[in-house]
Formats: sequence, C-alpha cells, structure tokens
Amino acid sequence: MTERDPKQITRKSEDFDRWYTDVVRRAELADYTPVAGCMVVRPYGWALWENTRDALDAMIKRTGHENMQFPLLIPESLLVKEAQHVEGFAPEVAWVTRGGSKELEEPLAIRPTSETIICTLYAKWIQSWRDLPVLINQWANVVRWEKRTRLFLRTTEFWWQEGHTFHETTEEAAREVQTMLDCYNELAVDWLCLATVPGRKTDSEKFAGADYTLSIEAVMSDGLALQAGTSHHLAQNFTRAYDIKYTDRNNELEYPYQTSWGLSTRMIGAVIMAHGDDQGLVLPPKVAPVQVVVVPISRSNDPDGTRQVEEAVEKIEREAAGLVRLRVDRREGIRPGEKYAHWELRGVPLRVVVGTKDLAEGMVTVVRRVDGEQMRLPLDTVGLQLPRLLDEAHHVLRARAEKMLADFSREVSTLDELKQAFAGGPVWANAPFCARRECEDAVKAAVHAVSVRNLRSDRSAGGAPCLVCGQPADDIALIARAY
Ligand SMILES: [Zn+2]
Repeated sequence: MTERDPKQITRKSEDFDRWYTDVVRRAELADYTPVAGCMVVRPYGWALWENTRDALDAMIKRTGHENMQFPLLIPESLLVKEAQHVEGFAPEVAWVTRGGSKELEEPLAIRPTSETIICTLYAKWIQSWRDLPVLINQWANVVRWEKRTRLFLRTTEFWWQEGHTFHETTEEAAREVQTMLDCYNELAVDWLCLATVPGRKTDSEKFAGADYTLSIEAVMSDGLALQAGTSHHLAQNFTRAYDIKYTDRNNELEYPYQTSWGLSTRMIGAVIMAHGDDQGLVLPPKVAPVQVVVVPISRSNDPDGTRQVEEAVEKIEREAAGLVRLRVDRREGIRPGEKYAHWELRGVPLRVVVGTKDLAEGMVTVVRRVDGEQMRLPLDTVGLQLPRLLDEAHHVLRARAEKMLADFSREVSTLDELKQAFAGGPVWANAPFCARRECEDAVKAAVHAVSVRNLRSDRSAGGAPCLVCGQPADDIALIARAY
C-alpha cells in the first residue's frame, strides 16, 4: 500500500463523507475548533458565503424588506409562550444561567431562531392596521445544540438570515411565503446552479408552530436531498400567543397573520456536494470568490520570455479589472502543475495559462473547471471575453445539475416500486400521495432512512391512487434520503 499524500483528497466514489470533509478543510473553507460542535469559517469560505448572502440580501430588499438586528439572548419566559414552538426547539436550546459570578434569576436562551423575541417587541409596535405589513429580516448567528457535527451542514452555531413579517390577511401572508420561497429558488438556481424541487412540507416535517412550511430541496451528487431554504406560514399561532393585537379597518381588535423564512450557511454545503469532484470544489461563477486565476509560466533562464509573459499578464489584469474577480498566481518556486491543483481544489471557474509558446502566436490557454474544456484564445481579446466565458461555465454547471436531477429521478406508483427504486442506491422518487400521516409512516417504514421531502408544487397527482393506500391523491410526493 502506498502512503497517502496528505494533500490528496479522498476520492468521492470511495467515501463521499470523507471526500466532503477533505474538500471543506483542504480548500480552506472551514475547519473544526476546540469548541465542540462549532466550526470556524475561514476567509475563502466566508467570501463564498458573503457573495451568496449579498445576492439574497438584494432580493430581500427588492421585495420590500428591511434589515434589523435583535438580541442574541432570549429570556426563558418569552421562549415558552408558543407551546408547539417550544416543544419543537427545547432539545436544541443552549442556556446562559450565570452572568459573571452571579446565578441569573431567569435563564437566558441563546436564540435558536427569533420569533419569540420579535413577537414580544412587535406586540408593542403594531397598534393599527396602518402599522402593517411589517417586513423585516435579520442576518445573524444562531445556536442549536447538535450531537454530531458536519461542517456547514450540521453545526451547533451557524449563520443565516431570518425574515419575519406581519400582515392583515392570511392571503397576503400566503403570498409572502411564496414570494420568499421563489427568492430562495432564484438564489439556488440562478446563482448557485443547483437543481431544485419546490414544494410543501408534510405536517410532520413542518416548522414547529407553523400552519404550513414550503421548502426547496436541492439534489446532491450522491443522490441525497438537501433542504435548501424554508418559508413558513405562521397564521395567528404566534400573534395570539404573544398577544399582538391591532385595530383593524373596521375599528376592531384583530391578530395579524405572520410568516418567517430562513436560509443558512448550509447552502455552502449544498454547493460543495452538488458540484464538487475528485479534484475538489467546483464553484458557481457568480459567487466564486476568485472567478479567474491567471498562471504565468516562464523560465528563470529566459528573461525575455519572462518579461513578455509578465506584460501579457498585466494586460489581462488591466482589461479584466472591474469585470471579473481575477487573481494572478505569481508565487515563486511552485511548479505550474501544483498551482493548477491548488486552484482546482478551490473550484475557481476559469484558469488562464500565459506561457511563451502560446504567446509567440499571440494566444493564451483558458481551462474551464467544471468540465476541463480547454480553449486557445487571442491575448488581445481574452480579458474582455472573460465575462462571457464565465457565463458559459455557469450554464454548463447548471445543465449538469439538471441532468443529475433527471438521472436520479424515478416515477413510482406503489410501495413495492418504491423499494425497487431504492434497491440500487439513493434516488429521487415521485409518487402520488394522499398526504395522510399513516401513509407517510408507511413510506418511511418501507425504505431505510427515506422521508417525504415535500409535496411538489410544480406537479399534481390529479386523483391517481396514493402509493400506499390507493385513495385518490392530489399531490406528488418527492421521496428521498436527506442530509
Ligand atoms: Zn395514502
């Protein structure tokens, strides 16, 4: 057996979980810390999150919301007012019980989510129908106690945004829930090149305290699903519990309808698992911290050639400035092959290689990360062509994700067919489904570790028999294993 190169990452086909952790750590996205369950996000990973966050933040503002900031700590008495909510979150809440050397009279929860504190404050601020709608969002870190840690996917502390809105009517709240799910889907598809299925969670999978929850489920390259964003219709469940009353248009006291919606750093995990390969990350061009890396190649015993190469590199830098996020790898004493591997591991969408041989013909070589496609392009125009080349890389990645979704998808109409579909490994099974709890339990019992991910909003069963009970079904259930 040969010694394992410490720089080498585990092959994806060999061990997907180890491959994932290797990629996250070696590409310097994130790492474990001395704090059990908590990760550190390193600059490259944070830059990736910032680009993702900024794209979503623009959508949040475009749809009329404003950002604000609530406290990290929530008094116990506020947290426990909505019974279902507290029951759902109780096992995951971390508590502060001491301040300095003094025991606190009332323990303070570290926010697992902020509905409770937000409702408490808005009970003071919402007085009249003129105060509605309230459309706010918070970018924050939250804590949910986890026994097992997976970088970006499952950590005790994570980063996210949580949107919270209050409305006069249930219909307006329902539109809000849909609008924000559409934004999440736009981010997932148009920015992160993921293939997704939008739909509604079953009652057993919805948010604790919600009337209903919408989700997008994104396909990972091992065939598992990752819940990539959720949007909840909270009806009046919280506003009643927290006594948020306002005077409506008929001068009567009424409780507003509420929504909340969140998307977290899990999305970075989705990008890694959907697109990455044995060489490492493959980043979607729109959010890649470095979109183009330029690698100059010259020999130390060829000063003329070295000067030519440097001039060409500077020309590309100049022309691409402000168009793309470009970095030149001028590190000395490192072989070109090592540099290529370094940036491949980090998923940089395009590599421009500038060497004397190509330059003699006025050309440079461009290599596309997603499929290794090589192109020789004229030095004269390459700088200006980079945005178009990134756009092409974006579409190749998107198409590959859609193909992956199509390849994993199966149509099944009975439990037996469901079992058969999963016999060869994880798939995304679509089946007519009546949405009753008993039938959902039967689905879970039929195949190890599967669940109904959502009831697809893009399809309808049109009365076809439920795969379990045979009763006419309205919905198509997406059944898969999930992270
Ligand atoms: Zn059924």
